[in-house]
Amino acid sequence: MNEESKQQSKTKLGFIGVGVMGGPMAANLLRAGFELSVFDQARSQCEKLVPLGASIADSPRQVASASDVVITMLPDTPIVEQALFAENGVVEGLKPDAMVIDMSTISPLGTVEFGKRLAALGCEMLDAPVSGGPAGAIGGTLGIMVGGSREVFDRCMPIFQAMGKTITYTGPLGNGQKTKLVNQLVGATNLLGAVEGLRLARRAGLDVPTTLKAVGSGVANSWMLANLIPMILKEDFAPGFSIRLQHKDLKLLNEWTDSLGGDFPAAEMVFSLFSKAMEMGLQGQGNQGLINIWKP
Ligand code: NAD
Repeated sequence: MNEESKQQSKTKLGFIGVGVMGGPMAANLLRAGFELSVFDQARSQCEKLVPLGASIADSPRQVASASDVVITMLPDTPIVEQALFAENGVVEGLKPDAMVIDMSTISPLGTVEFGKRLAALGCEMLDAPVSGGPAGAIGGTLGIMVGGSREVFDRCMPIFQAMGKTITYTGPLGNGQKTKLVNQLVGATNLLGAVEGLRLARRAGLDVPTTLKAVGSGVANSWMLANLIPMILKEDFAPGFSIRLQHKDLKLLNEWTDSLGGDFPAAEMVFSLFSKAMEMGLQGQGNQGLINIWKP
């Protein structure tokens, strides 16, 4: 173990929610030398991390009582609230001077409220949602958008560096989530453009590979065009980032834009299209499954 790893192993981390994203993020923290206590309602998810050195806790409370910093990577706002504040939740086990870093994508307003409730108990909170999907989580190359106290952010940098590549301080608590929602707006509208471009090329009888090569080599290229359109062509609709999670994020986006006076038509459009995908039962597909709301 090198000097850096020895230092890091002194910081005891807890990780709650070790699913598609949290599992590989936790694995990267273990590989970086951190001591890690993990909890997930699906114990099998935790067991995968034991060979890397993780210890399994029985509750969020037990994670907190073993940790200097508790990280959450959970599906949505009510589940984060439950893990933090419900019976056997994090607050029941918090050590003095402990910190909470929520890396889930949840409501910015909820985040600020959770931060206040934690601050009343002497606990600092950062919001640090991520971009980069499962591949970024596995490769330790996530984009991480962090809100909260600058001083706490600086102290937590080695933790973020073990999981991500582009780590951006965005301002006070809640700004990480707001930045992530801007990211979701841009990403979802890019996806819609790429999907509609493919549909148009198909309907017009253009040669699809030729069209995509021409379009993708110029200013219209995007991550969505380059990564998700090839999956659609192979009829691969596996998640990645599921329609259920995209719909959840676009709902949060629209609640936020409404609170700012509205008039964000692209945000409204992608939300309504992903709502239709949910109504059609496509929630388990990757978000490239958006194309399936139209007939071929
Ligand atoms: P996931 O469903 O794979 O993982 C969530 C984990 O939380 C699961 O293992 C589940 O068992 C666990 N869990 C659920 N309720 C719980 C509870 N009450 N107590 C303890 N554990 C509980 O989801 P994911 O894809 O890892 O996403 C996690 C978060 O990251 C979400 O907020 C999502 O929006 C965000 N995110 C996901 C991606 C992606 O590509 N999947 C990308 C960026 C951000």
